[in-house]
Amino acid sequence: MTPKLIIIDDEEDIGNYIADVAEEMGFETVVTTTADEFWPAFSTTRPSVIFLDLMMPDVDGIQFLRLLSEQECAAEIILISGSDTRILKSAERIGHTHGLRMAGVLQKPILIGDLEAILEKANLGQKTISESELLEAIRSDQMVLHYQPKINLSSKHGWDITACEALVRWNHPEQGLILPDQFIPLAEQTGLISQLTDFVLVTAIKQSRLWQNEGIPIGIAVNISAQLLSELELPDKIWAVMEKYHLNPESLTLEITESAAMADVGLTMDILTRLRLKGFSLSLDDFGTGFSSLVQLHRMPFNEMKIDKSFVMEIGDDNEAKDIIQSIVSLGHNLGLQLCAEGVVTEEALKFLRSLNCDSAQGYLISEPLPADQFSQFIKDSISAKQSSKTFA
Ligand code: C2E
Ligand code: MG
Ligand code: MG
Repeated sequence: MTPKLIIIDDEEDIGNYIADVAEEMGFETVVTTTADEFWPAFSTTRPSVIFLDLMMPDVDGIQFLRLLSEQECAAEIILISGSDTRILKSAERIGHTHGLRMAGVLQKPILIGDLEAILEKANLGQKTISESELLEAIRSDQMVLHYQPKINLSSKHGWDITACEALVRWNHPEQGLILPDQFIPLAEQTGLISQLTDFVLVTAIKQSRLWQNEGIPIGIAVNISAQLLSELELPDKIWAVMEKYHLNPESLTLEITESAAMADVGLTMDILTRLRLKGFSLSLDDFGTGFSSLVQLHRMPFNEMKIDKSFVMEIGDDNEAKDIIQSIVSLGHNLGLQLCAEGVVTEEALKFLRSLNCDSAQGYLISEPLPADQFSQFIKDSISAKQSSKTFA
């Protein structure tokens, strides 16, 4: 399938220049100079890449990003502007906040080398997956789960692994392991997320049963797209799988990303409350990246909040990140929630989180997400390390 690209820039020459380079690289392109031209092209083309000029006379680039997010745009977005890189970077951050796939920024005048590099990256990143390929992958067992440990921060001896997060990957026969950011948006757009989540739930719960049988009583967390919180049968469906594998509901956490899709607050609340009543834990994922209001958070029956890795990974170079994390931890604790920090990559970050009494942590410092067999080994190794550190303490 030919990758498609739309450019919106009021300077037509720039649009044509990008289009020429992109066509050389195998893209099919559409150049638009106004919003009125862009939106019809967007709905008919289903582009895999969008170039967006932030500074146009009749278009507010930031508002444009919000509209793209409302359209559940899965394209890679490249921002272009003549203004300084700080503005471009902050616009890029806003794009991320809206759940968009921001592929980079280009400052005018655009150098051909930079343009080619960014197009190459966007093209590789997108790999233009189609709905039928995704469906086939789910049906033919190409999806696999990796598990990332989550540690309890109050323990002093080694890693006290209390739970893990199940993260889906697509083991593509030709392209190798494809990460979820590349296909979850498409799964959500096409409704395939429901089938994918069924697979993830059953696989993770089955795995949890196997670990319990091996004497590893570990909690497991599964990501649930907010979109699925309009399926009234979801709580019973999950309950039935847990019952089939004789698992206690307390051992399953459902991580829900704050999302624009949580728009129907009444329905979401109904489903979340029934899930909590059944005894499952509910975690608000990626907190701080921003869709749900604090009022909603206060009303919803979550019992955990996960601090987004974009803040946690910046502990060290950035005092602002530390201030934000401190505020989130105290807000969460005041609301009676457990706090989990994701994206812990340094000892310094771990120490800082411990000083705030943050409850648990996840990150590459502890371990990357691992296939099930490697995860079991990791747990066994950390249990023996903990025992020997206690013996010598
Ligand atoms: P998430 O739920 O916030 O998961 C955490 C992501 O952060 C994972 O990325 C994990 O590999 C990554 N991560 C954890 N620690 C570190 C770190 O120290 N450094 C860095 N650079 N990254 C770290 P992954 O596996 O690529 O997943 C991305 C997102 O895809 C997840 O974010 C989640 O929103 C979504 N996702 C993954 N599996 C599923 C699924 O089964 N269903 C749904 N609906 N979404 C899923
Ligand atoms: Mg998660
Ligand atoms: Mg997260």
